Amino acid sequence: MVSRTIPVDLFDLVVFGGTGDLARRKILPALFKRFCSGQMADGARLIGASRRDWSDADYREFVRKSLSEFAGELALDRSLVETFCRCVHYVSVDANGPRGWDELSGLMVADRVRAFYFSVDPGLFSGLSMRLQDHELMNEQSRVVVEKPFGHDLETAQALNAELAQHFDESQIYRIDHYLGKETVQNLMAVRFGNMLFEPLWNAQYIDHIQITVAETVGVDGRGEYYESAGAMRDMVQNHLMQLLCLIAMEPPTFFDPDAVRDEKLKVIRALSNVEPHHIVRGQYTAADGATSYREDVDNPRSRTESFIALKCHLNNWRWAGTPFYLRTGKRMSERDSEITVVFKETPHAIFGQEAGRHNNELTIQLQPDEGITLGVTIKDPGPGGMRLVDVPLDMSFAEALGPSADSPDAYERLIMDVIRGDQTLFMRNDEVEAAWAWTDPIIRGWQARGDAPKPYDSYSAGPDDATMMIRRDGREWRGVIN
Ligand code: NAP
Repeated sequence: MVSRTIPVDLFDLVVFGGTGDLARRKILPALFKRFCSGQMADGARLIGASRRDWSDADYREFVRKSLSEFAGELALDRSLVETFCRCVHYVSVDANGPRGWDELSGLMVADRVRAFYFSVDPGLFSGLSMRLQDHELMNEQSRVVVEKPFGHDLETAQALNAELAQHFDESQIYRIDHYLGKETVQNLMAVRFGNMLFEPLWNAQYIDHIQITVAETVGVDGRGEYYESAGAMRDMVQNHLMQLLCLIAMEPPTFFDPDAVRDEKLKVIRALSNVEPHHIVRGQYTAADGATSYREDVDNPRSRTESFIALKCHLNNWRWAGTPFYLRTGKRMSERDSEITVVFKETPHAIFGQEAGRHNNELTIQLQPDEGITLGVTIKDPGPGGMRLVDVPLDMSFAEALGPSADSPDAYERLIMDVIRGDQTLFMRNDEVEAAWAWTDPIIRGWQARGDAPKPYDSYSAGPDDATMMIRRDGREWRGVIN
């Protein structure tokens, strides 16, 4: 099977913060890979923009280093790298002052898509937006891309949305959640809405519960200052896990159209019930196996910020009434593992007798480290030993099933190309972001009011025991490699 590369329209991508960490690790390699795939039209340009006084040549050198570090084998082809570098330019611009804006204006050409990527601290969004407008850099083909964190709570998210709305139409704003750019996440929609098999069973009548786990082995790794003010709830649950929950639980949209999809996701967030305090476990990693503790990493011996969270929630709607959703995310966990498990109910009657055991079908959607979908089915244990049952996986590793075309693009590759194409389906809308904060805020306020401290857990473990106990009280177990 061969994947098709559909070239996008001619564009200029201006990356504010083009010398930053995100640009270096994600944006530049992503664009280079799309260039190598033939998706960038001749003449398309990447324009790095930040305060430092660099020339095009300085920036091209920065790009070369970034590619050699983060673009894999493709970057070994020097002629490809050099051809790409000819599309790269740099302008020294201050988001908060007049420097560089006339020069940037002068660089722009008409009749092509203009994408302005705000890969900077959100405190700079206002200055950038104002100056883009003042210098008449926005036209009908212009769009802006904004990175997370999108607000710290509902109030700040509303303020940020209002600020952007003063300068841009909502149809021009692309709020990135890179989880939505993952191939499997989109496959979730394809599997649900492209097959007759699952949708009739996709409800509280047939599904016992759903688990979403996003576990990382890394700690806060140099992001201590930001993380300490955010914690796992703001950093992961409010956005990434919420988006996964939306895709797994939403109603089929009428069309695969940005607003139709986002309308359905919004309904899911609005249907979320309040979470009871005893249905949330917060944790904080401690030193173990030679690793430092969270408190050491953020240099705050009294920190009460959570690096782990597990919670149970419900959706107040017809489809899901009574089906719990268990969400779990943490740093310094025993494995890197992101997966969604849909656990179906047992058959209503066990015709094979008690010895055969009771079995649940499980559909596992693996997001990382490997992307794939597995359906656990129950079959007869082979051999003459009577009718014993055994669960086996119907495994669809994308890499094996799809061959070379399964070498799926990184989330940033897909999302940046969607920006150029003007497709907002995989980007969060203002009301979605605000609804997610409206659900998250009272939970955070609740534990702040109670003075809850996170439970300690060993680095490289499964998280606090309380998280295991929380799900066991319901007669269930965490699925996946972390349990
Ligand atoms: P960073 O490494 O600190 O880079 C910040 C960039 O902003 C630099 O290029 C800096 O260059 C530029 N900058 C600072 N002040 C400026 C000003 N007044 N005018 C113009 N440019 C200015 O930050 P980052 O890690 O790349 O993160 C960028 C954004 O993406 C943040 O909002 C972050 O939360 C978000 N994000 C980052 C990651 C990640 O993996 N790094 C992941 C998700 C989201 P100069 O100093 O030369 O101006």
